[in-house]
Amino acid sequence: MSVELGAPYPWHGPMWGRLQSGWRSGRLPHALIFHGMPGVGKRAFAEAFAASVLCRNSDDKGRPCGICGECQLMAAGTHPDITRVEILEDKKEIGIDQIRELREVVTLRSHRAGFKVVIVDPADAMNVNSSNALLKTLEEPSGDTLLILLTARFGALLPTVRSRCQAVAFPTPAAADAEAWLRGVLDRPDDAPALLALADGAPLKAQYLAGQDALPMAAGLIRELEALATGKSDPLAVAERWAKSDIPTTLSWVGGVLYDLARLKFGGVPSLINIVSRTSPLHDFASRTDPGPLFEMIDRVREAQRDALTSLNQQMILEGMLLHWNERFTNMNKRAKS
Ligand SMILES: [Zn+2]
Repeated sequence: MSVELGAPYPWHGPMWGRLQSGWRSGRLPHALIFHGMPGVGKRAFAEAFAASVLCRNSDDKGRPCGICGECQLMAAGTHPDITRVEILEDKKEIGIDQIRELREVVTLRSHRAGFKVVIVDPADAMNVNSSNALLKTLEEPSGDTLLILLTARFGALLPTVRSRCQAVAFPTPAAADAEAWLRGVLDRPDDAPALLALADGAPLKAQYLAGQDALPMAAGLIRELEALATGKSDPLAVAERWAKSDIPTTLSWVGGVLYDLARLKFGGVPSLINIVSRTSPLHDFASRTDPGPLFEMIDRVREAQRDALTSLNQQMILEGMLLHWNERFTNMNKRAKS
């Protein structure tokens, strides 16, 4: 894989080259949406692109010089012409006031007489009002402003916002490229394939998961599911433990395990089983599980994932899901015994 200088990660090489040449030839619109799943490096790319745009002497590959005043301000994190709009602490959305402040940024001259860059991350955290305020901003003449919206949920942006920006898709890197990079940054390089499977192939997510001791946790999660299925553990106690974890991650793994069970049932190729087969008799578990309740359980995970986004009582959501499962499992086992 060719590595372009200036691109934050090796798999960004081709994209970096394309966007840089677009920018340099004036063909790139000044409102972009970087979209792709979490952990493929959209934010790092946006920051690197901003550094390249702001630098006075970036080279023909778009690599910042590292020594000019702009580069020094960027390195210090104090460049006045880069504005980052994020979800404020204790908030779940990007508010309309945050977006209204952007209009000033866009319409006023830059502090440093160069370009201005605005990064909105995640852009899908804008509600309808914030999005409409952004549309007004997009209507302002802003020749010297580059606006970059980041999202893992492209479809969640207003169609009017999507249509006024150029969408740039950040694909998940090829498995071999992702693994090669990940091996180079892990303390235990041999964990790379299993971590990538857990992270749906997203290298930075896999790296994050390594730091969270994800592999032993995933194995533990599967043991808990087995204990629940065989009536050896109390769903309420499990809910209490899971409520202390990173709930979206836990739910996404549980969903992954259930999908794998379904894949095993129908002769597909499971993605997680290979990771846990050394520690878990999951194959037996799959053969004991009926497809009907299995799909019902997958639905309950989806519901829980959706509810967890808005509800304050996360433990209650987990309790509801696990009690339902417990009932399902118990019925299944009764039938198996009779
Ligand atoms: Zn520079």
